Amino acid sequence: MAYTKLNQLYEGKAKKVFETCDEGLVIVSYKDDATAFNGEKKGTIAGKGVVNNVMSDILFQLLEKEGVPTHFVEQLSDTDTLVKKVTILPLEVIIRNISAGSFAKRYGVAEGIVFDEPTLEFSYKEDALGDPLINDDHAFALKLATREQIAQVKEYAHKVNDVLKAFFLEKDLKLVDFKIEFGLFNGKVILADEISPDTCRLWDVNTNEKMDKDRFRRDLGGVEETYQKVLGRVKS
Ligand code: ADP
Ligand code: UDP
Repeated sequence: MAYTKLNQLYEGKAKKVFETCDEGLVIVSYKDDATAFNGEKKGTIAGKGVVNNVMSDILFQLLEKEGVPTHFVEQLSDTDTLVKKVTILPLEVIIRNISAGSFAKRYGVAEGIVFDEPTLEFSYKEDALGDPLINDDHAFALKLATREQIAQVKEYAHKVNDVLKAFFLEKDLKLVDFKIEFGLFNGKVILADEISPDTCRLWDVNTNEKMDKDRFRRDLGGVEETYQKVLGRVKS
């Protein structure tokens, strides 16, 4: 059955979401638009939509095979994927293996400290508040998720980290940290949104070169080429 885009339900910073003829399925369409610092910095990364779509689909299929349920249904084109329509839990789930970014800034430590165990943190997904850091009790108090859902999210997030850390290492990339989102589909928690250089920090194993959106955030140059290189490694 051929699915086509009907009404646009939502346009976000990096993707558009469209209805389909099936009310349980939506089409996610990835854009080249890039933002950072809660939308303060804006730009375009040519080819990013394709990279993030194709890479997310490869990783979601791998995770599904490894026992993490995901929203992935079918890739429709270079930029578009058919996914299960979920109710997103308004929690950004961040796992870190190595200090970087806001962790290094918040706690006044250098980037590059390898943790003995991964850390997991939640941000409240609310742009108007700047996605503030929250803990499990806060998420529960704010009724963002039930205790059971929070426990399930944490279990899946650690599994995602185990699978992806090993996968990226085979591609000579260190998985420094990443953000994922979960949603409810038929009452069950499943992995949704994307996993891409926009949402992960990836450092070259040999040179520690940054191969992710930090090239855009920090004006390091070679942004487009880096996204293409990462996709090349992921596909290899
Ligand atoms: P943002 O909303 O932060 O600007 P995007 O541009 O990536 O982000 O927009 C995509 C939106 O679609 C996000 O808000 C994300 O939570 C949501 N989303 C991701 N996967 C699904 C899904 N399977 N069903 C419904 N919504 C989804
Ligand atoms: N991240 C993301 N979206 C966000 C915030 C963070 O995808 O809104 C990702 C980011 O790319 C990095 C990880 O989550 O891989 C940890 O980000 P951090 O908290 O260090 O924040 P940042 O430095 O991006 O402000």
